[in-house]
Amino acid sequence: MIYRDTRDSSFAVDFKTAVLSGMNAKTGGLYVPETIPKLPKDLLCRSVAPSFRDVALEAAKPFVDGEIPDADLQDIIIDAYPFSAQIVPIDRITYVMELFHGPTCAFKDFGARFMARTMSYFNRNENTALHILVATSGDTGSAVGSAFHNVPGLDVTILYPRGKISPLQEKQLSTFTGNVRALSVEGTFDDCQKLVKTAFVDADLRQKFRLSSANSINISRLLPQSFYYTYAALYVQQRAALDNKIENPSIIMSVPSGNFGNLTSGLIAREMGAPIKGFIAATNDNHTVPDWIFSGEYNARPSVSTYSNAMDVGAPSNYERIRHMYTLEQVRDLFASYWVDNQGTLDGIVECYKNTGYIIDPHGAVGWAAWNDIRSGAMEKLLNGEKCDPAKPGLTPNVPAWAKDIVDKKAVGVILETAHPAKFGEIVYKAIAREPSIPDRLQRIMKLPDMSIPMTNNYSAFKDWLIDNL
Ligand SMILES: *Cc1c(COP(=O)(O)O)cnc(C)c1O
Repeated sequence: MIYRDTRDSSFAVDFKTAVLSGMNAKTGGLYVPETIPKLPKDLLCRSVAPSFRDVALEAAKPFVDGEIPDADLQDIIIDAYPFSAQIVPIDRITYVMELFHGPTCAFKDFGARFMARTMSYFNRNENTALHILVATSGDTGSAVGSAFHNVPGLDVTILYPRGKISPLQEKQLSTFTGNVRALSVEGTFDDCQKLVKTAFVDADLRQKFRLSSANSINISRLLPQSFYYTYAALYVQQRAALDNKIENPSIIMSVPSGNFGNLTSGLIAREMGAPIKGFIAATNDNHTVPDWIFSGEYNARPSVSTYSNAMDVGAPSNYERIRHMYTLEQVRDLFASYWVDNQGTLDGIVECYKNTGYIIDPHGAVGWAAWNDIRSGAMEKLLNGEKCDPAKPGLTPNVPAWAKDIVDKKAVGVILETAHPAKFGEIVYKAIAREPSIPDRLQRIMKLPDMSIPMTNNYSAFKDWLIDNL
């Protein structure tokens, strides 16, 4: 498969180059597959819905064609995914796709673990380790650290702002040993990012070490996220006939979004032939994309902090990929868009719990609030020409091609639950006065010793440390 630069489509690379370089440093463009392959008919039409790993293998093959043989790809997938997405029906026409069954209890495990193993694979004939530097403001660092832990040929240094992330997040970052370590930087997330960026352009360091990043823009994090959309769509397609007697339902995926990597992966799954009718782009107060969808004008802005903090992104990097794949009109046909403020997020947790008994985290709650309002009348009002104010939380005035399926009761919703509620226990408690139960793997981490290394935000101190310790 050939991958092209979103900013200069004459520039093309193979999968290995796209994975190891992350982006085209010359243009600042991101890589997208030249064509989106179709899933085999056999996979889409099985009488029993395929397993997650079956889907993963079939869906990954064409993207790595000619570079990773099937047997090696299968080993990568088996090693990356000892867990799966789980689909839980919570009411007659609503399913939750739980994406938190990986080691760090958030959906980023799916992308990060595939990326780590493909990087290791491509590095297998080198004599020296590939050094990954990551700056994190929370969730990404733990997913990346955990995904690369004990993976041969790779070495990871995570930089995080000391005291500026949640105690659980700090534990998840600071307790690694072996090939993964965390530097607790005296400063802000921006300081961490600056140290990493300066290191990448430091000729002296580049000569000594092979440096790479594990950024969310890496195509090897995006592609594997498409696997669970296909898996869920095929599963729900079969379940729906039993659960609610809707034959061939229109499956709508409600995606709580920040950088829009997760949603872009859903678009890839749909293009590959997964039976997905449309998407709800659900955001918090950072509603750059909903604003773009209704107004046609894209205005990136500084982020504001909210209860769903992993979605606090004002300039979503995957906007560039979405624009490369579709025209604005196509986006308007595919997407409903919706945003909620903090109060709406708390209300979402409360209503989901009251109506269904399901305890949802603040990110999933944004997706739930959007779907629940859309199927309970908001879309019908919009279809009937009632005006809605895009400056207020709620459904954005855009009617997708599938709007009538909602009114005709032909649609089912799948809400992506991107993190385990225990990761955001305080906010959940604030909403429903109940603590979510804490999974064993999080409890174990809370007992491990802090191995983080204190660091100032001074570049030369950081550089000296790298030279002495890598
Ligand atoms: C990263 C993250 C998101 C946002 O995903 P994007 O791909 O950036 O849109 C949502 N929820 C959780 C819990 C996350 O960690």
